Order: sequence, then C-alpha cells, then structure tokens
Amino acid sequence: MRNLVVILGDQLDANASALVDFDPAQDALWMAEVDEESTHVISAKQRSTVFLSAMRHFAAELRSRGWPLTYIELDAPDNSGTLAGELDKAILQCKPQQLVMTAPGEWRVLQAICALAAKHAVALDLRDDTHFFSTVGDFAAYARGRKQLRLEFFYRELRQKTGLLMEGGKPLGGQWNFDADNRGSFGKQGPVALPSRAYFEPDPITQAVIELVNQRYAHHPGSLDSFGWPVTRAQALQALADFVAHRLPMFGLYQDAMWEGEVWLYHSHLSSALNLKLLNPREVVAAAVAALQQGLAPLPAVEGFIRQILGWREYVRGIYWSHMPGYASRNAFEKHEPLPEFYWTGDTGMACLRDAIQQTLQHGYAHHIQRLMVTGLYALLLGVEPAQVHQWYLGVYVDAVEWVELPNTLGMSQFADGGLMASKPYIASGKYIDRMSNHCKGCRYNPAHSTGERACPFTTLYWDYLITHADTLAKNPRMLMQLKNASRLTADERAAISGQAAALRQTGAAGVVATNNA
Ligand SMILES: Cc1cc2nc3c(=O)[nH]c(=O)nc-3n(C[C@H](O)[C@H](O)[C@H](O)COP(=O)(O)OP(=O)(O)OC[C@H]3O[C@@H](n4cnc5c(N)ncnc54)[C@H](O)[C@@H]3O)c2cc1C
Ligand code: SF4
Repeated sequence: MRNLVVILGDQLDANASALVDFDPAQDALWMAEVDEESTHVISAKQRSTVFLSAMRHFAAELRSRGWPLTYIELDAPDNSGTLAGELDKAILQCKPQQLVMTAPGEWRVLQAICALAAKHAVALDLRDDTHFFSTVGDFAAYARGRKQLRLEFFYRELRQKTGLLMEGGKPLGGQWNFDADNRGSFGKQGPVALPSRAYFEPDPITQAVIELVNQRYAHHPGSLDSFGWPVTRAQALQALADFVAHRLPMFGLYQDAMWEGEVWLYHSHLSSALNLKLLNPREVVAAAVAALQQGLAPLPAVEGFIRQILGWREYVRGIYWSHMPGYASRNAFEKHEPLPEFYWTGDTGMACLRDAIQQTLQHGYAHHIQRLMVTGLYALLLGVEPAQVHQWYLGVYVDAVEWVELPNTLGMSQFADGGLMASKPYIASGKYIDRMSNHCKGCRYNPAHSTGERACPFTTLYWDYLITHADTLAKNPRMLMQLKNASRLTADERAAISGQAAALRQTGAAGVVATNNA
C-alpha cells in the first residue's frame, strides 16, 4: 500500500487536503469510532451523536465512490477504545509506505499520531488544513513581536487579504465593524414570529447511533429526544440556506439578545457543521455576501456574521496552535473553586443559568452570549478552576472541538490567560442579563441587589470580583470605569458583599436554593 489516509471525526470533507491525490488503486482510507473521544472529557449525548452519525454518513459517501475504506465501529468486539490503539493495528496490518492526513485540530491527537508514526518508523505526511482562510503559520507571523493580540487587527488583515466586504481598499459602508448596531434586545414585548430551527429528522443511520449512545453512554449528560442536527453535507447546505433566508437579516440586531425558553433565535446553528467540515467557511461567507448584494440582508447583519467566521473562528484557532500545550493549564488568577453541580442538571434557582443549562443539556446548543455572559460569566465570577470550566464546555456542546472551545473558554470567558486573547475580562452584574433578556422577571433574585436575601448572585459576585482584583485590574485602562464605580462602595457595603460572596462559594453557589420554580 502506498498511503494509508487517516480521516478523523471532524475532518468530514471530501475535498480535504489529505484526499487531493487519493488513488483508490494504491491507497486506502481509515476511520475509527473510539470510546476515548466520548470519555476523555465526558461528552454529552447530543455531542457524541453528532460526531458518530456524521462520521457514518461520510463513510457511506466514501464507500459509494468505490474508495477502499476501513471503518471501525464503536461496538466492534476488538475495538481498543483509543485512536492510537486502532491505528497501531491498522499500520501493522496494511504496512503503508506512509500515513497521510490533514493536520488534526487538536494538540492531543497530533501528539498521539506523531508518536505512532515514530514508533512504526513510517513516514507521516501532515497536510495544512485548507478548510480555514488562514494557516497556523499566518497567525504566528501576525503574532510575532506583538505584546497583545487583538481580534480586530487580525480580522482587518483578513478582510484585506480576502477582499471580503471591501470596496476600493476600504471597508464596505465605511466601517470595519457595526457592533454598535448589533446589541439589540427584544424589549418588553419579546421576540415576534421567530423562525423555527432547521430540523433534520433522524434517518436509520442516525437512529442506530442514537440507540448506541443511549445504551453505551446512558450516564452521560443530556438527552436525544430532540436530536435534529445536520449530519450530512446536503443537510448542512440546507441548514445554511435556511439561515440565510430566515434568520440572517435579523442576526446582527439580535446577536446578543436572550429570551426565556427560546433556544434558536436568529443564530445560524452552523457551528457543528462547520467544525465537522461538512461546510466550508468560504461558502458560508459567500452565501451571506450574496444575500447582502441581493438586498436580502443589511450590512450590519452580514458584517456581524462574517466577523464571527472570518474573524473570531480564525483568530481562536491561531491562539490555540501558537500557545499549546501550555495554554490548557493557564490559570492567571489562581482560581480553584469547583464547578457547581447544577451545571450538569440546570437545577438552580437562578433563572438565566437554569434556562441556558437546560437547553444546553437538551440540545447541545446555547448561543454565544449565553455561553459568555451567563454560564461563563458565573463561573468566572465565582472563581471556578478554569480547567474544570474548559472540560464542561468541551463536553456539552455539539460544536465543541478543542481548538475553538479552549481559547473561547479559557481566554475569552475566564480571562485565565491573563489577557492574551481578550483586552479585558468580560464581567457584568445581573443588570446586563436583565437588559438583554426577560430572565430576571421570572427569577427569585433581583439583579439590582448585591446583598440580602434577594440579591442576584451575579451582582454580588460582580462587585466582589472588582473589589478582590482592583489592584490588578487598575493597570488596564478599559477597566477604569467599572473600578471607579466599585470605589464608591462604602466600607460596610464592601464587607457585606464580600461576606455574601464567600457564603455563595461555601454553599455550592446558589445550588442550595435549587428549584425549578422561581
Ligand atoms: C465559553 C465559550 C465556549 C465556546 N465553545 C465553542 C466551541 O466549542 N465550538 C464553537 O464552534 N464555538 C464555540 N464558542 C463560540 C460561539 O459561542 C459558538 O460558535 C456559537 O455560539 C455557535 O452557534 P451558532 O452556530 O448559532 O453561531 P452564530 O452566532 O450563528 O455565529 C456564526 C458562526 O460564527 C462562528 N463563531 C461565532 N462566535 C465564535 C467564536 N467566539 N469563536 C469561534 N467561532 C465563532 C461559529 O462557527 C458560528 O457557527 C464558544 C464561546 C464561548 C464564550
Ligand atoms: S436576577 Fe440574577 S440570577 Fe436571576 S435571572 Fe437575573 S441575572 Fe440571572
């Protein structure tokens, strides 16, 4: 055999770099489902099902081309449970001249594959992942010599390089970003006539995976009753078209808004399809640009959407690869509180957290602001150990793969890299959640109170965070306004806030008042 081409569960793209010169006469393909990928962090049922079902559908597509493929199923009797264990057997059996693969998205997996190739003294042809607009090397060149990395400048460079939303060398509409237009809430009346999600009825392949996951990972979090994610390229393209037609026009305005019980809002729900490589970011961005050109979506919505994909998605990947493996263990503020138990159940009296966690467990999905300013913010303010927060995010979302999850969690949401990725900690009191949602209306707590029985835990912990970290944060000009407000607190108020925050930490962080009735 000439090449044994290794395809991982998040490399489901027939145009991947590993396949460009595939020759069925002298090469073979190899894929494996292994326990390790659902257990090295506890993977929620929705997440495991998306991966396994999409892999099986992709394998069927490869087979239909007549390409030779070895595919190891999760419940194969001699499945060793690890990628390295299975690939080890395949190398011994096939004796390929070389292993070929598109570079893995995860540092752990890259190490395992390199070690295996070295063990068997077999050549390893690792190819750049051409799915992305930029390469890992591009980001390293951008980052070289910069003390601070900021999304905005990286994003502008990519806009210029790709010509996306550019006109005569200048940003279309005269502005690089329209963030100010993209912070709307639904107001008192709430969202009107929300479009429904693009739902894909499980076919027999997905149904078999659902059965397997329900039986094998019965004790893993979440449920599969509502499973409807795209698991084929055709479905992913349908999901993209559905988003562009029904939700993109309002995406910008309501990008940050939340509403009790409303899961899907105006977001794209394309992250899992993108991360599995069922969709290419170029076609996603092109579809948004086409909607703009046809007058179907306004510039602020289209720019807001493209910024997420061309900007944030590429930026976090660059951060990941230029700072691993050390990045995963960063804990700049030395935080060591345990993750509250209710993150696994949603059983808390805090309405905003209950809603975000319950929908996460039910669908494997929450939108960005729920992740950043509800579940992430609470863990940050409480002082949870960043590694525990990271494991939770990596386990519960259908789109969770480490290269994108880790910088978002550790850098953006927990500020645990000390400011490498974000210019300041994303902190706010319960009043922010009140402004952006209707959660507080039905909550037992009051976002305006920082102490007392009805004090909102977010608000208590927000002031406590500012008091505790005042010296460190004072070096950051972007924190001065918030610190100035904190400095107005009297000594008695400070003592009361610190006391209430300490009690929250001691009692398992409001889990003690757990109930589903506000
Ligand atoms: C703590 C935390 C953890 C996160 N973990 C993940 C993760 O594991 N996987 C993941 O894909 N995204 C992650 N994100 C980013 C973001 O929340 C999700 O991409 C988004 O919510 C997915 O929903 P959507 O497809 O409806 O996105 P939309 O709101 O419709 O955005 C469009 C697309 O832009 C991309 N995007 C948006 N924001 C980001 C971002 N901050 N970083 C990278 N890409 C982005 C995604 O591909 C997304 O599909 C995380 C964010 C936070 C704060
Ligand atoms: S009052 Fe506080 S805990 Fe309750 S919903 Fe509002 S922000 Fe969340």
